[in-house]
Amino acid sequence: MPGFELWGADERKEVNDVLETGILMRYGFDGPRKGIWKAKELEQAICTTFGSTYAQLTSSGTSALTTALAALGIGAGDEVIMPTFTFVASFEAVLSVGAIPVLVDVDDTLTLNPEAVKAALTHKTKCIMPVHMCGSMADLDALKQICDERDLVLLEDACQAIGGTYKGKKLGTIGHAGTFSFDFVKTITCGEGGVVMTNDEEVYTKCDGYTDHGHDHLGVDRGADLHPFVGYNYRISELHAAVGLAQIKRLNEFLAIQKKNHGQLKAILSQVPEVTYRSIPDPQGDSCTFLSWFLPTEEITKAVVEELKAQGILAGNFYWYNNNWHYISKWDHLKNVQFLNGQSKEITDRLKLYSEETYPESDAIMSRCISTSISLLWTDEQIKEKGDKLVAAIRKVLANQTANV
Ligand SMILES: *Cc1c(COP(=O)(O)O)cnc(C)c1O
Repeated sequence: MPGFELWGADERKEVNDVLETGILMRYGFDGPRKGIWKAKELEQAICTTFGSTYAQLTSSGTSALTTALAALGIGAGDEVIMPTFTFVASFEAVLSVGAIPVLVDVDDTLTLNPEAVKAALTHKTKCIMPVHMCGSMADLDALKQICDERDLVLLEDACQAIGGTYKGKKLGTIGHAGTFSFDFVKTITCGEGGVVMTNDEEVYTKCDGYTDHGHDHLGVDRGADLHPFVGYNYRISELHAAVGLAQIKRLNEFLAIQKKNHGQLKAILSQVPEVTYRSIPDPQGDSCTFLSWFLPTEEITKAVVEELKAQGILAGNFYWYNNNWHYISKWDHLKNVQFLNGQSKEITDRLKLYSEETYPESDAIMSRCISTSISLLWTDEQIKEKGDKLVAAIRKVLANQTANV
């Protein structure tokens, strides 16, 4: 999964270019920066690599989502449909623009169930935000159709699916806007960073200003810029952008290794007929950061997790159902409306409902799912050893189950 595993000379060289001039900021200082514009260069590389017309770098994936939502006009009182299985940043961003996160079931794609999305639509729905979790994609045709019919905004949280594709197009470039995160554990990293991609010039111009205090960036004198709207500081630094610039040049290398390792591990795991896999709307487009697999029941899955733990080989295998970051069952701070400051009545009223709501369809998927993260560093021998140990642990649990019946 993570590009940081292959940190090396290219990253050091790009960072060093910035250290030589000492101009750590992405705007201004035209003379002293001696032609070094890492953020601009990375935005250009993102457009070329992913086929997006525009790209706006930000300080994080979370601020990229916030920026995209604001630029798309999502704000107070608007409902944003998002999945019950995602990283907490997805709802943080929605809340940060004053909008209301509406949590909706996932299906065995581990992403938004389009039927559940339809059932959650109200007159306040403004945006559908699929999250392409664990390297693979939501059913974008189905979601796009709902958006087209209802005149809704489609915002892709592609933070975990850098380099994945859907029917030949790169994930993150298919909706009205899409985001990547370049935090430390993502497919390519800046250390910290993110990007909004869009093909809409107006949305891009808004992102550009929003991430830099509303500056219009039209003149040559930063101090004389006009401020057509209120913005914030979600800028990336030149040092972070420099790391990303080295990493994006290696993306194809990372993806090829992921695919190879993913394929080898899947071949070993497939010796167990009881193991099944997530559905992938376009199997060609899986970025293969994780291998996500299912066992027949929650009980068996929990027993396998315990067995892996007992053998000291759980690391790298994620049981999201019990993990306190990624699945709704553990988002108590959200459900208990624990904020440091006052929130609108509309938001608090809606969030309070979540403590009473249940998600049996999501539970039925997530309670049986384990995702194994794919390392870029594994040797063929290590994959075989890991795979064989996984298979042995699963077989042991399955044999116990049969014996107990
Ligand atoms: C990592 C991530 C984010 C946020 O990215 P940060 O750069 O860590 O702020 C948003 N959504 C998903 C699905 C993520 O995995």
